[in-house]
Amino acid sequence: MSGDPRATGHLVVGGGPAGSMAALRLAAAGREVVLLEKERAAHHKVCGEFLSCEAVEYLRAAGVEPLALGARTIRIVRLASKTALVEALLPFTALSLSRFALDEALLARAEASGCRVVRGVCVDRLSRDGSQWQAQLRNSGLWRASAVFLASGKHDLCGWERKRGAQGDLVGFKLHWRLAPQQTDALRNAMELFLFAGGYGGLSLIENDAANLCLVVRRARLREEGGWPGLLKNLKKENRHLGLRLQGATALWDRALAIFPIPYGYVASPADELWRLGDQAAVISSFTGDGMSIALHSGALATRMFLAGSTAGEYQKELKRHLRRSMSLSTRLSQALVAGAGRTVAPYAVALFPNLMGWIAQSTRIPERVLAAGAAS
Ligand SMILES: Cc1cc2nc3c(=O)[nH]c(=O)nc-3n(C[C@H](O)[C@H](O)[C@H](O)COP(=O)(O)OP(=O)(O)OC[C@H]3O[C@@H](n4cnc5c(N)ncnc54)[C@H](O)[C@@H]3O)c2cc1C
Repeated sequence: MSGDPRATGHLVVGGGPAGSMAALRLAAAGREVVLLEKERAAHHKVCGEFLSCEAVEYLRAAGVEPLALGARTIRIVRLASKTALVEALLPFTALSLSRFALDEALLARAEASGCRVVRGVCVDRLSRDGSQWQAQLRNSGLWRASAVFLASGKHDLCGWERKRGAQGDLVGFKLHWRLAPQQTDALRNAMELFLFAGGYGGLSLIENDAANLCLVVRRARLREEGGWPGLLKNLKKENRHLGLRLQGATALWDRALAIFPIPYGYVASPADELWRLGDQAAVISSFTGDGMSIALHSGALATRMFLAGSTAGEYQKELKRHLRRSMSLSTRLSQALVAGAGRTVAPYAVALFPNLMGWIAQSTRIPERVLAAGAAS
């Protein structure tokens, strides 16, 4: 180990929704907290940017109002497969906001609550020395703390790697677009899900009426297409509705963001006695649009249990209990959606049972009574 050791009571690694939520709750309880975030400034992340009502509840309780940041409302969900298109009302009003804006607002709230936020600092290793934790930084330097909360999202720390999920062969992509005016209007108030061979994706408006396209695809299909440009070109032909939405659209970035692997279905083991938050604790299939609410919930639950004297293992066990039903159902549905049979049946099933999408949306979420307790505490 090299560099000057710095010390704090509580160290949070990662400034996404999970880390910020934990940091601001600890700081609000009067604890000394330092949050280390590897990126120097606001940045985009691969995400559908769909905020479920549970996520919105947590954000508001934390003092972040997504509508004030320009979030768009979502009341309808449409499902498009090849040439079929069905739509259903969501059983709640959701919002859509870029991670660029949201994560910064949450970090600012953490700072305002008294947490020290250190940016441009990447933790490479975590180790325990008696009752003290040590976080080794990439470029030199060390932080010591009596408690560490690991909220590094998809990035695993050396020695603390997550296990593979039940569905681990998908690659995620995201790109922001400016759609043609009539397509922007047609997309208003909706989250559009589209299915295609080997994957699925979503399109919705975010602040300033930009459109976020986010999808996951099997590696084998991506390889066949020779990469993202070939995939996008063929998806526009394969899914007529997506082709229509992107007609006359301009990509707002030079290239799409990508992420791999995504361990869908992963839930942390209580045995490793580490306070894991967000994607370090559980990774839910992205079509549920529930990853951020789990991240916020885990940050709130972990700090509540920590402050009450529980162990990390007890917290991890409790979180697993909250997520059991939604994780197993969403993983099974996600596996069916990328498989041929599920893709063919999905639009007909939804058309036959108009409430099915509402039921799926409700069933893949954390039970309301658990959230109500978490958001209020
Ligand atoms: C394709 C796809 C679509 C999705 N769509 C949605 C959706 O529509 N709605 C939804 O709610 N969820 C969605 N999710 C899930 C959601 O993005 C995640 O669940 C959520 O971002 C997890 O939050 P987090 O705080 O755990 O991690 P992150 O948001 O990933 O934050 C982790 C932070 O830690 C920092 N960091 C990483 N490593 C280090 C390190 N070593 N040292 C210091 N800092 C570090 C990173 O820079 C980052 O800022 C989607 C996920 C995917 C893959």
